[in-house]
Amino acid sequence: MYDELIAFVREWYGSTETIPLSTPRFGNKEHEYIAQAIDSTIVSSIGHFVDEFEQLVAEYTGSQTAVATVNGTAALHVALRLVGVESDDEVVTQPLSFVATANAISYQHAHPVFVDVDRKTLGLSPVALDKFFQTACERRGSKTINRHTGRRIAAVVPMHTFGLPCNIQAICDVADAWGVPVVEDAAEALGSTRGGRHCGTFGRIGIYSFNGNKTITTGGGGMIVADRELGDRARHLTTTARTAHQWEYTHDDIGYNFRMPNLNAALGCAQMSRLESFVADKRALGEAYARFFDGCAWAEFVNESTDCRSNAWLHAILLADADRRDTFLEQTHAAGILTRPVWTLLSELPMYRHCETDGLTEAQWLSKRLVTLPSSTRGASG
Ligand SMILES: *Cc1c(COP(=O)(O)O)cnc(C)c1O
Repeated sequence: MYDELIAFVREWYGSTETIPLSTPRFGNKEHEYIAQAIDSTIVSSIGHFVDEFEQLVAEYTGSQTAVATVNGTAALHVALRLVGVESDDEVVTQPLSFVATANAISYQHAHPVFVDVDRKTLGLSPVALDKFFQTACERRGSKTINRHTGRRIAAVVPMHTFGLPCNIQAICDVADAWGVPVVEDAAEALGSTRGGRHCGTFGRIGIYSFNGNKTITTGGGGMIVADRELGDRARHLTTTARTAHQWEYTHDDIGYNFRMPNLNAALGCAQMSRLESFVADKRALGEAYARFFDGCAWAEFVNESTDCRSNAWLHAILLADADRRDTFLEQTHAAGILTRPVWTLLSELPMYRHCETDGLTEAQWLSKRLVTLPSSTRGASG
């Protein structure tokens, strides 16, 4: 039943070997920059590649400030702290996400609240968010309080699933009306835009990930993007909150050792020069998949929304028959095509099973049918 898809993927990649879901691609520039970092002996968390990488990402995304971190999870953790998420607060997020989204909330000793996603964007639904605020919350002074628990709602964390832009402007409008800051988990969405504006730059603060499976990689790495004021605080906190001085070791807060090492940033600078060509190649595959699945009886390709550009990090399809999901995964794997199911909903993991939800009708429907397809860029390194 899936032979045509298997043949299509093999032909696209021109390979008879195992086709992975998403692999990085490097070339001479990566080798050259890494060698420069080694030769300079400046490999750790301060160095010119870090400054340059931050500059490149700030310019590319149109944000005032970018701060490179050890990974995307650490970036999200610090971002939550910077918008004021504290112990015993609640943070609204989507259940359809990688576990890091909820874990970062937990690192601040706050409680995730899971609100449903849109079927179309796979991201947090502004309608469900508004309904949650209307039915469960009330304003008390400058705070928005969950009436059931008496806790403050301290942030909203939407996520751009697989690089598909969620309905971020509408989410920000709802959150604004309730005086709650938006922290954008754009870990998967560097290069994705809505209305020409980069995902990650709509909320009060945003984060990207450069893990090995993401669109571009620094081995491990992340980035915080924000305005200058918040960005400066992010830089300070992630650099052990050390106060500027030529030789004294003085720190004015409990900071973190979360800055990206120069060695990783060297990789990042080289990868940034390839980002647009990676996105173009991945989007071409997306168009080919869309044509392949046009009129297909057993699955539907998940397209980006109008006025959006997805970075096409991972391509996804919705299987018509949820009962055939495991057969699909088994048969494609048996043929060496490494498809994947979407993450188990965060609200179903043992650590988060007790968290408040709004019922999550769409998320549950999606989680039984959503699978991802090989999405790497093609071609030899160089
Ligand atoms: C990858 C990812 C992260 C975390 O990034 P790391 O760099 O792996 O720590 C966070 N949120 C989402 C949605 C991700 O996909």
